[in-house]
This record gives sequence, structure tokens and C-alpha cells, in this order.
Amino acid sequence: MSCDDARAALLAGDIESAASHIAGCRSCRADEASWQRWREMLMEPSIWEEPSDHLAARIFERVENAARGSRFSRLRWLWAGAAAFLVVLAGALVFANGRSPDWSIPLVAIAADPGTSAVVNGWNTSTGTRMELRVAGITPAPDGHYYEIWMTAPDGRHVSAGTFRAEGTVSAWAAVRRSDFPRIWITLEKIDDNLGPSPTTYFDMVG
Ligand SMILES: [Zn+2]
Repeated sequence: MSCDDARAALLAGDIESAASHIAGCRSCRADEASWQRWREMLMEPSIWEEPSDHLAARIFERVENAARGSRFSRLRWLWAGAAAFLVVLAGALVFANGRSPDWSIPLVAIAADPGTSAVVNGWNTSTGTRMELRVAGITPAPDGHYYEIWMTAPDGRHVSAGTFRAEGTVSAWAAVRRSDFPRIWITLEKIDDNLGPSPTTYFDMVG
């Protein structure tokens, strides 16, 4: 594995395959902390939720504006360098976003109107389970309430994977593996000090 491969693997979250190269490479060890910071930034849900389709166009627009507004060609090059870097980063995000899910399950409406639909796409990662939930047709949660996504083990233990308020695409994370916590379901919750699932199940898996 080359240094570039190690960096790509690390940024893609494949820490295991980069580990042996990094252990034996002084240069990569020196850079590892900054790569990890980039990786943490790449894992921010706010980045995942923001499609980067127009990012490159926006950057080039800013480069042109900066170049027009400045007498210094050096600044222009600085902008161009920053833009090139961000375009590479945007490419990495598109690549990461485009990785097809490890699994995909439709949920059935329970308390929700039968016309609503919910599909969960999931990715198994070394840090847990990343999910993208697409919900259509549910009414926004009433004041003082929210929807909550749960992952539950066969023995009944459950872990929250996040909360949301209305229909749309929701990014969700849980610290557990889907193989250990296979059931995925959604409840309506009241904002209070009871952190367990309420009896009002909106969506659940078939069977
Ligand atoms: Zn290296």
C-alpha cells in the first residue's frame, strides 16, 4: 500500500487496512492526526445532508469574484489552490455518498397513515451503523413531540439511532451493529425525561 492509498483508506473509514502501512511509515504517522481530523469532518451529518452538486460551481464563482476584486495575482492563486482542494474533497464526498447501502428495508406503517412510507438504507461501519431514512407522508410531529428511530436486539435491549420531526430524508447513527440489533422501528415520543420508547409505534419491520 502506498502513502496515497493509506490516506484514501483512512478518509474512507477503512482504518483497518490503512493501519499496517501507517504503523510502518514515519511520514504517514506524522500526518495521521490531521487525516483523522478530516475524517471526523467528513463524518459530520451536516456534510452528509448537504448535497455537493453545486459546490464546485459555487467555489469557481468565488474564485472569479476574488480574482476580479483583487490586484494581487497571488491571492488569485491562493483561491485557485483552495478551490482545487475543495473540489477534490467534494469528489470524495460524492464518492462516499454514492457507496451503495449494505442493506435496505421498507418499514410498514403501524400508527402512521397507511399511505405513508418509510425506507431505511444502512451502512455497516467500524464505528457503528449509519442509516439514511426516507419517510414520506407523515404529518409533522405535534408540538412537544418528535419521532425516534430505534434499533432493538432479540433480547429486547434497544438503542436510539436519532430523532426527527417531519417527513424527508433523515441521517441516523447508532453505536451498535445491525447484526446484533436487527429490528428497526420508529415511535412518536414526547419531550420529557422518559428516554425509553413510547408505546406509539409509527413504523416497524414486517413480521
Ligand atoms: Zn506512508
